[in-house]
Amino acid sequence: MASFQQRTQGCGELRLAHAGQTVTLNGWVHRLRDMGSLVFVDMRDGTGLCQLFLDPTKHPIPEIKTETCISVTGQVVERADKDKNPNSPTGEVDVVVETLQILNPSKPLPFPLNDEGQMQSVNEELRIKHRYLDIRRPAMRKKLALRAAAVRKIRAYLDARDFIETETPIFTKSTPEGARDYLVPYRLDPGLFYALPQSPQQYKQLLMVAGLERYYQIAKCFRDESQRSDRQPEFTQLDLEMSFVTQEDILQLIEGMTVSVINELIDEFALEKDHLVPFTRLTYDESMARYGCDKPDLRFDLELFDLGEAVQGTEFGVFKGTLENGGKIRGVRFPGGASLSRKEVAELEEFAKSFGAKGMASIAITSEGQGSENEFTSASGLVAKAGFLKFLQPAQIEGILSASGAEAGDLLCIIADEYMAGNNVLYRLRHEIGERTGLRDPRKLAFCFVMDFPLVEWNPDENRWDSMHHPFTSPKAEDMDLIETDPGAIRADCYDIVCNGTEWASGSIRIHRPDVQARVFRLLGIDDARQKERFGHILEAFSFGAPPHGGIAPGIDRMIMFLLNEENIREVIAFPKIGLGQDPMMEAPSEIDEVQWKEMGLRKV
Ligand code: ASP
Repeated sequence: MASFQQRTQGCGELRLAHAGQTVTLNGWVHRLRDMGSLVFVDMRDGTGLCQLFLDPTKHPIPEIKTETCISVTGQVVERADKDKNPNSPTGEVDVVVETLQILNPSKPLPFPLNDEGQMQSVNEELRIKHRYLDIRRPAMRKKLALRAAAVRKIRAYLDARDFIETETPIFTKSTPEGARDYLVPYRLDPGLFYALPQSPQQYKQLLMVAGLERYYQIAKCFRDESQRSDRQPEFTQLDLEMSFVTQEDILQLIEGMTVSVINELIDEFALEKDHLVPFTRLTYDESMARYGCDKPDLRFDLELFDLGEAVQGTEFGVFKGTLENGGKIRGVRFPGGASLSRKEVAELEEFAKSFGAKGMASIAITSEGQGSENEFTSASGLVAKAGFLKFLQPAQIEGILSASGAEAGDLLCIIADEYMAGNNVLYRLRHEIGERTGLRDPRKLAFCFVMDFPLVEWNPDENRWDSMHHPFTSPKAEDMDLIETDPGAIRADCYDIVCNGTEWASGSIRIHRPDVQARVFRLLGIDDARQKERFGHILEAFSFGAPPHGGIAPGIDRMIMFLLNEENIREVIAFPKIGLGQDPMMEAPSEIDEVQWKEMGLRKV
């Protein structure tokens, strides 16, 4: 028998139909209002809240602090019409408590669980230190419940399509995804280490060699890299792989899955349903040229413009020098930015400089001039205003106005720099402008595929080619011959999915032939001996009739972040890490004792 009276109902389930019944409820004291002769308690459990009446002559009111765990039995009564609360599902009834059992008292709380307004200003570390309390808040509980619902739908979608959910090891060997590994010392042979998987990449490919054909896993991945608001050292991916497929098959599957999951859940979110599909498709080159990055926020249209042609032959020093050095003069419109003060424009320039811009030229566009000497009135009647216009020919200024698509009220923000350096500034400026103008509409979800990435990028610090994604990505068939001759020009059968300016998934068609894999390893500076040592298993597996295969891995945490419109990934993870990867609740990482040092064959240096 239970040591307490077990519930007959959930608090949030009580309705008018229960009036007259005796019920037992188990849960927590959410809020207590002591009116002297009568005490009201909002009682909470996983189903919601209801209101209790307590008679202070019968019950030990001083002992009933907020978050005390209680069991109550009492009669459900209908409220007087004037007291009914249409905003609460249980707002038509109260429970008049007959017996109350304190199951466990609560200490004073570190933060108020019953005041969402106040919670906004509570320090995040304090919340995470007491995450078990933080999650008692209905708002947090709802996030986790939605996360579970999304994962359930993902599973249902893939299970219905003959995927086989398969777990792969956590103690494994380094598999490169571009981050540092987390290592686990091997006690039985000091000096040897397991690596935690940065992703199940090699295992899922080996499952294709194994003939599974369709695999997925809700997989924990571990990457020791710098923390950001959308990154965690351990995170969850939907990891997926298929055999005998083309890139198109994978893109269609994942688009279909995403839309099905979102459509089923979207009513829970304040998001727009329309225009989710088809996902926009951009090549990497297009994305760079039009948005300055490979993760464009397509909730708004503003595209970058290129002024190279418009100002060709200019004598204006900055522009001339940039063009002569092979750089680009590009910019982005700031709708409404013409009314920014001088100081605000200077701040915007500082923002650009903080991402490496040497400077930012700006032109204010209006429909009416004020007769100042820095103005130029175009044939169409637009007035452009900027100090440096006097160095440009009228035809060049007309060219700038038409290349930028300038409209009255705009501020044209212009960056003259080497192409990639300029991109790095311009995409951030574009996102900042989207934010400030409200064009980055938080109710929208804008997905896009970015495809045809370069296979490799030059790493000037290490003086070598690095994989743009990972070393198992296949070069496009028509670019195979460039592996030894022009690596920088190789395009890969590789794709990302971006949502609202954040990378959500990345995937590729893989190399499945050992000879091609060995050529790509060599290109990456991994010589034959090292290939054997690090990747011998996969090279050997490929030599047993490995099928053509490919896959993708969308982030689960990030997906929930988009759906809930959260800026911070920690909000959608039950027990996230903070700061430099610490868990303030468990106080991990932590010291180990002397015996463990010895057993592990480790010594502090
Ligand atoms: N393993 C890759 C990643 O985690 C995804 C993939 O290529 O499927 O980014």
